[in-house]
Formats: sequence, C-alpha cells, structure tokens
Amino acid sequence: MVETVNILVVDDEKGIREGCRRVLTSEGYAVDMAENGKQGLDMVKAKPYDLLLVDLMMPIMSGIELMEEVRHFDPEIIMIVITGFATIETAIDAMKHGAYDYIPKPFAPDQLISVLNRGLEKRRLRKEAEKLREERDQKLLEVASEKTKLHAIVNSMADGIIVINRERQLVLWNPAAIKMLDRNVKLETGRDVDEIIKEKDLIEVINKVFSPSFSQYTILSEEIELTGDEPKTIMVNVACVRDEKGSDLGVVSTFRDITRLKEVEKIKSQFVSMVAHELRAPLAAVEGYLAAYLTGVAGKDPQLNRQMLERARLRTQSLMELVNDLLQFVRLESKKVVRKKELLDLSDIIVNTVELLKQQGTSKDLTFQLDIPDKLPLIEADRAEMEQLFTNLISNAIKYNIKNGTVSVSALPDTHYLGIKVSDTGIGIEEEALPCIFDEFYRVQGEKTRYTTGTGLGLSIVKRIMESHFGRIEVESEVDKGTTFTVKLPLKEIN
Ligand code: ATP
Ligand code: MG
Repeated sequence: MVETVNILVVDDEKGIREGCRRVLTSEGYAVDMAENGKQGLDMVKAKPYDLLLVDLMMPIMSGIELMEEVRHFDPEIIMIVITGFATIETAIDAMKHGAYDYIPKPFAPDQLISVLNRGLEKRRLRKEAEKLREERDQKLLEVASEKTKLHAIVNSMADGIIVINRERQLVLWNPAAIKMLDRNVKLETGRDVDEIIKEKDLIEVINKVFSPSFSQYTILSEEIELTGDEPKTIMVNVACVRDEKGSDLGVVSTFRDITRLKEVEKIKSQFVSMVAHELRAPLAAVEGYLAAYLTGVAGKDPQLNRQMLERARLRTQSLMELVNDLLQFVRLESKKVVRKKELLDLSDIIVNTVELLKQQGTSKDLTFQLDIPDKLPLIEADRAEMEQLFTNLISNAIKYNIKNGTVSVSALPDTHYLGIKVSDTGIGIEEEALPCIFDEFYRVQGEKTRYTTGTGLGLSIVKRIMESHFGRIEVESEVDKGTTFTVKLPLKEIN
C-alpha cells in the first residue's frame, strides 16, 4: 500500500496556493492550504503533515515564526520556503529556522516538484534510519537481557563451573566454583588456569582434554579428593567447548561436591558388613548344632540330642528377630513409610504392652508398677509404631533387670507434651556407653549383658519412631541402680 503524502501550502497569495495545489495534486499528493502562519500552525497541530511549503512574508504570523513553532512541535516535518526575494541571506535565515530548502518565486512546476521530491526523499531516508536504529537498539536490549539471564543462571548454579580458553586462561566462573575450590586468589578473566587450580589431579584431568588425542565429543568424569581445611570429594566433568563450526574454543569444567554422597555410601557399606557379621554368628551356631546332631557327636542320648536341636531353634528365633528388626529398621529408614497417624490415647497401648511382656520377667520375679491414668491427653501418632516403641523400652527394662527387680511405667503431667517414663532397677548403663545406645547394632559388652540376647537395633528403632513423631527421648542411668527412659511426645492441642 502506497502511503498518502500530506502536504500543507501556507501562503497568503491565493494564486500561489492554488497553483501549488494543482501541480501537487496531479502528482498524487494530498494537499491542504492555509492563508497565513497562524492558520498553518493550527492545521499542523490538528493533522500530521509530511511536508510544508511556507511563504516567508505573511500577515498575522510570518513564515519564520511559523517554522520556528513547527520545528518544536514536530521536528520531522520537512519545510521548504517559497520566497519572493531569494537572496542568500534570507535563504540562510530560513535554514537556521529549520527549512530544508527554498524555492524562489516565480517557479516552474518542475522546479517545485524536484525540490519537493528531494525533501520527501530526505524524510524517507531519515525515517528508515530511525527504524533501523530502533531495531538495532531492540536487538541490543535482547542480547543484553539474554546475557543477564545467562549470567544469573550460571551464578546461581549449585554446581561449580569454570571455562578456560585455548590459551588456558580463565574466561568464565561462578561463585560455587570458587567456594568448592576454596580459593583465596582473586579470579579474573585472563588469569592462567595453572595459577588458580593447584590440585595436581584436577590439572591432569584438564590437561587430558587439551591433549591432541582427546576425542572432542568425550566428557571426562573423575572423582577428586580436595585436601584443605575442609576435605571434600568433588566430581569433575571436563569437556571441550566448540562453536557451531566445530572449532575448538576451550574447555569447560563443572564441579559437584559429592562429599555427603560418599559418606552415605560408606555408611551403607558399613551397614551391610555389620548385618552380614550379625547374621553369620547365629547361622554358624545353628550349622554347628545341626552338624553335631547329624554326625552323632552327641552320642545316642536322646535328651542331649534334643537339647542341641532346641538350642539351634533358639538361635534361629533370634535370627528371625534380627531379620524382623532389620526389616522394621529399613522401613523406617526409607522415608517412604506410610504412617497412619491418628489421635491416640496411649493408656491402652501401654497397659496392654506391659501385660503382654510381663511373662518375660517371671523367671526374675519382677514387680511391675503402672502409674497410668485411664485417660491420657491425646497425641497424633501411628498406633503400630507406638506399640513397637513401648515394646522395645519395656522389654529392655525386663531384659536388663535383676532378680526381684522392678519395672515401672508412669505418665508425666505437662501442658506441652505427653511424657512417659519407663524405669527399671536393673544393671544400668555406664556413662561412656550412653551416647552409643541409640546407634544401630550397638550393645554394651560386659559380664552382665553376656547372657542376654539382642540385636542392638531396638533403641535405634525407638529413636527413629520418636523423630518421625517430632518427639524426644531422654535417658538417665546409674550402674547397678537402674535406668530410666523418658519419651516426650507433642500433644495434639496445647491446653
Ligand atoms: P534388641 O532390642 O534389638 O533385641 P538390644 O536390647 O541389645 O537388642 P537395644 O534395645 O538397642 O538393643 O539396646 C542397646 C543396648 O543398650 C543394649 O544392648 C544394652 O546394653 C543397653 N540397654 C538398653 N536398655 C537398657 C536398660 N534398660 N538397662 C540397661 N542397659 C540397657
Ligand atoms: Mg532392646
């Protein structure tokens, strides 16, 4: 679509106005007319014009005054002066006030059109240049904002990143890299990588990528131990950086702190070897009894043979207990366990657990004291886990008790939590063993515990149950006097 070019002719001479209009309309321009400067200015303010033809000598408002006003109102309008006394001075004066060119009166139509077309061409070029500049500015803005985005992303990455060029100079890095490498040196673009990275292993990985035999599409991954104030294990991935054409630009290295991961791995393998060890002893005993029975080592005495089988059975029972504890432990460990937390009154659970376990204490003639009110304040908990918790605590109080001892279970009144105390008058726990009793597989070794069986998982399960219920467990003990475990569970509503 061809845009209409709007032209305003401002002249007090009707003949000139009409003449111009005729010529310009026949050329396809839209032409308006004004007979003095004031009228011309009003029209410029009311409608956008591309070009003004202005007579200099006019009543009310002169051409110069008009041009001055228009120049401020719309500097893009091309103004051409029509002047009856075209001297150099008037021309210069007009130019000073913003005129693009001038036409001396009288003029031929061709002359008018030629000056006018030049003016319009200038306006077109000026507009185009303006458009290009705007586009360029826009692109610049986009690039700048992309750069800012990239910068923000790289800076907030948890993994460290360092980019070096082919000359082994630093090009890009982020705060995570500085933190991981624990460097005091000031990182700045252009610094030699060998000044910044002192770890021999790390430099070796980077060197491999620089070597000519290195395949450009490989990513080298290596674990590196960083010594220092805080030793760390870092997983380093190093790869070449290439442009779209495939030319080598440098090397990018990313660092991930895997110290914690390595620790967990170590704990896991320790756990496996501990479990294997715990399983081995009872299995070896069972195997021994069965072998003795089968080879007839115990002779023909049926009593003796039966005894052996019974012992084997006892050991398999404790093996079963161990496996059950392990399963429970793993279940609690994998945070995926589905807990059915409900509003619970623990009094029934505690009374029933004591009743169930009482018979374990008959050989020791234990006395059981229960000081639990019929109704306890409600807590939000998983019933099965609460049963397990009190079974473990009460069975310990029985197992590590002495002849004619006492096991007491009581509730503590408090407004913020429900406290339950499980006390015994048993062998007690030495002070140095206390911090370990909640560890997996830990059992106090000694003359007094020698004949009690157990896996050492009971209290670690208790601890985990307490954690998942946002509670606390405390222990007080005195050797040969007894032990008290106190559990504190948050109340559903603080009253
Ligand atoms: P499990 O409960 O798995 O059958 P366990 O009783 O040996 O085995 P925990 O309940 O975890 O394991 O207890 C760890 C250790 O703490 C016990 O081996 C024992 O030495 C000590 N202990 C626990 N409770 C008492 C207690 N009431 N009195 C004295 N020692 C205790
Ligand atoms: Mg126990």
